[in-house]
Amino acid sequence: MRFYRPLLDIKAISFDLDDTLYNNQPVMERTEKQVTYFLHQHYPELRRFQVNDFRTLRIQLREKEPTIYHDVSYWRWRSLYLLLLKYGYSEREAKQGATNAMKVFHQWRSNIDIPQKTHDILLQLARRFPLIAITNGNVDPAKCNLINYFQFVLFAGPDGRAKPFGDMFLTAASRLKIAPKHILHVGDDLISDVAGAIQHGLQACWINTHQVDALNNQTTNVLPHIEISHLASLYRLL
Ligand SMILES: [Mg+2]
Repeated sequence: MRFYRPLLDIKAISFDLDDTLYNNQPVMERTEKQVTYFLHQHYPELRRFQVNDFRTLRIQLREKEPTIYHDVSYWRWRSLYLLLLKYGYSEREAKQGATNAMKVFHQWRSNIDIPQKTHDILLQLARRFPLIAITNGNVDPAKCNLINYFQFVLFAGPDGRAKPFGDMFLTAASRLKIAPKHILHVGDDLISDVAGAIQHGLQACWINTHQVDALNNQTTNVLPHIEISHLASLYRLL
């Protein structure tokens, strides 16, 4: 644990989800493979299409519609819809296909083995603090057995713009009825979690799982209050 700024009294803790409470990369890889398999099975025109083609299409869509990333589920649905149109399917088929592919996506996306250590620390912390979660992603915390630790979960899209924008941080403070400065936000991303939280008056705990040197890192524009390498370090705040 490393301290960069003095901590104020903590009255609530907010958690990022992806790559903070579990390793999201294998989850997304598995999920995208399953969606591709579904598309290959049901849409023969897409038989040569691969996951990377889809990633390119998503990037192109974001270039055309720069704010679409605030709602990752809609962004993905639209990309699937455009993909099906591109391969010659009708508008009706493309809409239905995108909706069906998203059902497959959601089924796999929240199929996550949450580490026991994560359950242990959340259980301990939930006895001391109100806990909430703020995510830019679209995992379903109920499906992966995380929901019971949190008083509520805010999602970019339905609950406002993605972090580092302040929408969800400020909504969290007002719903908790706790001043932002007494909320500690814990997350893995130096921009969306650390800079976002601090710019909107919260305290920030950076979980540095990849041993990045924050002081010599180009993406650091704001230092967190504290840096930890494992969630278990939060026990020291108890
Ligand atoms: Mg994250």
